[in-house]
Amino acid sequence: MSERLIEPPTLFVNASQVVTCAGPARARRGSEMNDAGVRTGVGVAVAGSRIVAVDAVASLRQHYKDAHEIDCRQGVLTPGLVDSHTHGIFGRPRFDEQEMRAAGLDYMEIARRGGGIHSSVRDLRAQSEESLLDLARVRLRRLSSFGSTTVELKSGYGLTLEDELKTLRVIAQLSRELPLRIVATFLGAHEIPLEHRGSAAARQTYVDSLINEMIPAISARQLARFADVFCETGVYTVDESRAILTAARDAGLLLKLHADELTSSGGAELAASLGATSADHLAAISDGGIAALAHASTVATLLPGTMLFLGKTKHAPARRLIEAGIAVALATDFNPGTSPTPNLPLVLTLGVSQLRLSVAEAVVAATVNGASALALADHVGQIAPGFSADLALFDIGDIRELPYWYGDNRCVATYVRGKPCYTSDLAIT
Ligand SMILES: [Zn+2]
Repeated sequence: MSERLIEPPTLFVNASQVVTCAGPARARRGSEMNDAGVRTGVGVAVAGSRIVAVDAVASLRQHYKDAHEIDCRQGVLTPGLVDSHTHGIFGRPRFDEQEMRAAGLDYMEIARRGGGIHSSVRDLRAQSEESLLDLARVRLRRLSSFGSTTVELKSGYGLTLEDELKTLRVIAQLSRELPLRIVATFLGAHEIPLEHRGSAAARQTYVDSLINEMIPAISARQLARFADVFCETGVYTVDESRAILTAARDAGLLLKLHADELTSSGGAELAASLGATSADHLAAISDGGIAALAHASTVATLLPGTMLFLGKTKHAPARRLIEAGIAVALATDFNPGTSPTPNLPLVLTLGVSQLRLSVAEAVVAATVNGASALALADHVGQIAPGFSADLALFDIGDIRELPYWYGDNRCVATYVRGKPCYTSDLAIT
């Protein structure tokens, strides 16, 4: 092919800092997390969808003579943020439950009044594929406006084969039409559907349908990369979770697990023993769970926004996890019931203020380790030659400002695979 047919490279110049997170193409564990690879006086060269060089701007200009330049205007350039845990496909928001919680109503009472996850299930089943798609498009634009360039989306408000397939088809369509990088997770085991809660036999019928019908159907259609289970007292037991995830693994899916969110039920140990890619929540992880994750490659994905929104003061023991040598990721848990925020930088604020992470640890948790929680760490999450040109530009002069201006949106622009994904109408000040 002639050189002339290849697009000229793009140089990102005049960034006050380039936060590279560069290093091995795998999760950062323990003390490795404390290095976000902050560089000054460098630019980034992108050719096609890939980063090709990170170097002094003068030498980039000399090497890439016909390059197009993007002026970062003294902002901070980071790897595009990776939101590795969301439930972003839903219909009606559940803002009515917030005041009920504030008034002291517990989960069971809210459910009795028609709220909770089952109300989202009823609602999603009634929504058309088109209306779910319209709602999700806008919500994903909001997620990307805060700097996220990769978003995981779970099913799990359908809980029938037909409604789970409907949700996963919406995710596939979003993945085709949006510039965002999207990863699909099948979470048919999000709850036991109401129609299967009458007896142990009815419950087993649903678990059997997950294993024998839904997982094979979804795997055959290649509608999900991951399978996930909500392993928690009152939801799926450890034995049920093991059976479902083993079937998913046998069908070629990678594994995630909602583990030890409210009670220590052995979820982290199960995730480690199955070689799950991530174990998520972990606010109630036991000492045995920490020891199990320390000996596994499973990423611990922490979701402090959920605890904040539910008014809980208990958080995952992030410092102990990191000191045990575990890779920690941060994500929004974006969902209509317990964490309706699209703002991943706000979760970084919570990472620093509530989980006691350093800024470098929080940034690594939302980039390279988020990518690792989605099995993408070989080409996503770093500003380094060979990696996908997934970038976020923020209107700040120092990366420590990202969690500092909490709740604010400093994202100016994002790029995915070298192409513009989101642009703010606010200029860099
Ligand atoms: Zn979740």
